[in-house]
Amino acid sequence: MDCIFCKIIKKEIPADIVYEDDQILAFKDRAPSAPVHILFVPKKHIQSLVHADKGDESMLGHLLLSIAETAKKLGIDERGFRVVTNNGKDGGQIVHHLHFHLLGGKKLGW
Ligand code: AMP
Repeated sequence: MDCIFCKIIKKEIPADIVYEDDQILAFKDRAPSAPVHILFVPKKHIQSLVHADKGDESMLGHLLLSIAETAKKLGIDERGFRVVTNNGKDGGQIVHHLHFHLLGGKKLGW
């Protein structure tokens, strides 16, 4: 499968990894939109949020809590941050492997 995030997960292409466990991987976005811009991805290939199912429930909860934990570790929890998942064409999704953007370290516009 020609999925760039699957290749990062399999360590076939490099990434600046911030966190990893058996279910998820987090790495810095290569074109950051904020001082902190980290992508959290499930190791299982899921195309987007609407392609997730009941079996992914605990992994997705774990992923969200890992984002919060990382925000605390990086010290951006007090000032605040944003979590975004782009879904499909209108949502601006470019990489078709479910991912959540953690953005922070500055006042974010909309
Ligand atoms: P989107 O699909 O629009 O939610 O965003 C995909 C994000 O993945 C963009 O912010 C890209 O900069 C980022 N990205 C694409 N390829 C890589 C890569 N090889 N390493 C790190 N970030 C990447």
